[in-house]
Amino acid sequence: MPLVADAPPRPAIVQDPIPYPSSRVGEMRAYAVRHYGLHRARLVAPKVIVEHLTANTSFSATFNTFASDAPDPELHERPGTCSHFVLDQQGTIHQLVSLKWMCRHTVGLNWTAIGIEHVGTAEAGVFGNVRMLRASLRLTRWLQGRYGIATKNVIGHNESLSSPYHQERVVRLRTQTHADFPRRWMVRYRRELAAG
Ligand SMILES: [Zn+2]
Repeated sequence: MPLVADAPPRPAIVQDPIPYPSSRVGEMRAYAVRHYGLHRARLVAPKVIVEHLTANTSFSATFNTFASDAPDPELHERPGTCSHFVLDQQGTIHQLVSLKWMCRHTVGLNWTAIGIEHVGTAEAGVFGNVRMLRASLRLTRWLQGRYGIATKNVIGHNESLSSPYHQERVVRLRTQTHADFPRRWMVRYRRELAAG
């Protein structure tokens, strides 16, 4: 009998690691110093899960973008953007980065947030895809149980500025966010999470 009866089970996860060599660890640490005043690339006791939309229709394109470690087109910084997990449109959960490392997916929250990308161009596509939504909820619930993350701290990228964990040392970025997974969709997502 499990000791914690309501611990959500670990879903099936396909390991598809992007290269995260020591050079990228160094870039991540330098980013964390610049943006958070933290001298580490390690993700320690994450408190937030951020849900994202890739704005494309392909897992492989998403993988290639994250693997490239190219400076991002918006802020022109390294390391390149990445996310710990990507959900494809078949409902497969891919893990691209170990949870021991930070990833650049949400300005202001990378120091404490796990990133989950959903392949697609509209939130309605995620909610209309039962296999994808189910896998997303399973993954998020498992991560919540593993790290003790409250459902109110499962947020959409567009909700980043209102997170109590948001912090950013670069002044021009303090109000920067993206349009994906706004509150109206996350209200529904959190309701589904809470419903189990
Ligand atoms: Zn996003």
